[in-house]
Amino acid sequence: MEEKFERFSRQREEILKILKATKSHPTAEWIYSQARKKIPRLSLGTVYRNLNNLHQKGAIRKLQLGTPFDRFDADTSPHQHFVCKKCGKIYDLFLDLEKDLKAMAQREKKFRIEKVEVEFHGICLNCLKFSQ
Ligand SMILES: [Zn+2]
Ligand SMILES: [Zn+2]
Repeated sequence: MEEKFERFSRQREEILKILKATKSHPTAEWIYSQARKKIPRLSLGTVYRNLNNLHQKGAIRKLQLGTPFDRFDADTSPHQHFVCKKCGKIYDLFLDLEKDLKAMAQREKKFRIEKVEVEFHGICLNCLKFSQ
């Protein structure tokens, strides 16, 4: 029991370390390929379980941005994402929008709004340059 718990927390730590070291908002599959270098017996299912667990605890963000797979982000500070429809890259944006949007929405409907998610889609500068 204890040994199992220890293995689990070691795996989870390794997964979190990998995610913290990148700004690319990777898929579970990518994290799996990196983690296997350290933990060869790891399975993709275990990676998913660990990611969901970390997400539930609020240690990471899970991004559903209309991309084929969920993406993960170790940066839990309030920020938005821009998804490039050409290269699929996800960029961080740090705009102070959430408070204003919440207030605007609350003026219109008397709901108690707990979370605001804003996402941006378009073509990134790299792809714009390339297509010229
Ligand atoms: Zn792009
Ligand atoms: Zn991010």
